Amino acid sequence: MKLEEISCPECSSIMRPATTDHLIDDLDITIHNVPCLKCSRCGNELYTSDHVELIQEKMKKLGIFGWGSLIGKEIEMTVTESGRRLVIGIPKEVERTFGLKPGVKAKIKVKGIDDLEVTFGETAT
Ligand SMILES: [Zn+2]
Repeated sequence: MKLEEISCPECSSIMRPATTDHLIDDLDITIHNVPCLKCSRCGNELYTSDHVELIQEKMKKLGIFGWGSLIGKEIEMTVTESGRRLVIGIPKEVERTFGLKPGVKAKIKVKGIDDLEVTFGETAT
C-alpha cells in the first residue's frame, strides 16, 4: 500500500507524511517528532502499522513499553505459604514489564492497616 493512496477518514482528502507529538496519556509522557500521516485539509492525524511499530520501538528503548496498561491497575493475588513464610506471587505481566528476576531486591513499606507498598530495586549480585 502506498502512502499517497490513503485518504482522510474524516474528510476524504489526501493524507501526507508529517510528524507529530505523540502523547501517552496513561504515563503523561510525550514522544516528539513521531512520523504520521496528516490530512492536508482538516489536519486529522493517522498512524499506519509502520508508525505504530516505530512508536513501540521508541517506547521499548525508553523502557516504558507495556506500562500504559499497568499503571493504576489492581491485580488480586492470593497469599500462599512457602516453607514457613507467607508469599505473594508476582503476576507475569508485572514480572515482564518490570524485568523482574529472582534475586531482585524488594522493599515493603507499611502504608496503612491493610496497605503495603512494594518497591523494586537493583538486582542482587
Ligand atoms: Zn481530513
